[in-house]
Amino acid sequence: MIFNQSVIGEGKQLPLMEEFYTIQGEGFHTGKPAYFVRIGGCDVGCHWCDVKESWDASKHPLSAADSIISNAMKHPAKAVVITGGEPCMYNLKYITQQFKENNIQTFLETSGAYEITGEWDWICISPKKNMPVLKQNFQKASELKVIIHNKDDFRFAEENAKLLPNSMAKTFLQPEWSKSKEMLPLIVDYVMQHPRWMISLQSHKYIGIP
Ligand code: SF4
Repeated sequence: MIFNQSVIGEGKQLPLMEEFYTIQGEGFHTGKPAYFVRIGGCDVGCHWCDVKESWDASKHPLSAADSIISNAMKHPAKAVVITGGEPCMYNLKYITQQFKENNIQTFLETSGAYEITGEWDWICISPKKNMPVLKQNFQKASELKVIIHNKDDFRFAEENAKLLPNSMAKTFLQPEWSKSKEMLPLIVDYVMQHPRWMISLQSHKYIGIP
């Protein structure tokens, strides 16, 4: 298939790193089966990132959104999680519209540093210190999930939560995997003292699934 720039701009092709059917391990939808679509490309640069191989988009082949959609539809769960990398570096209107037309729920995982395009049933924003969340994206957030790597991340979590206009948005603190043993007891204490927060764990890593 021949790819061209205009088709990429329309979001009909995306640099696909991997796609797989699994169980959502994190955040509000923990435990639900879904088809994961990991889009390559991210310039946010979190030093603890566990998918650094996603950063360089050129390493991930441009794939037709239509083929991603038909692959997702082969699975029983009618839900897709689009993640990265930073998927909002791309136009996600086409792929999400097509998913919706096929009655597939669309869940987004983003840092919020880029404009969010597309039709979403659930938007999880995970703010990162290197690149702030765009102000307008806070209005779209269904969920704020802050990764706790060190003690200052509690302050960062509160700073971002203040910017959420939707009081119904879910707010989670999640230990960064390599610091989990150290941070989890602090998160437990913090959540008990600040009950607007809930704990999110990377349960897929405990279970040993992708
Ligand atoms: S935003 Fe996500 S993919 Fe990008 S560097 Fe940070 S953790 Fe990694």
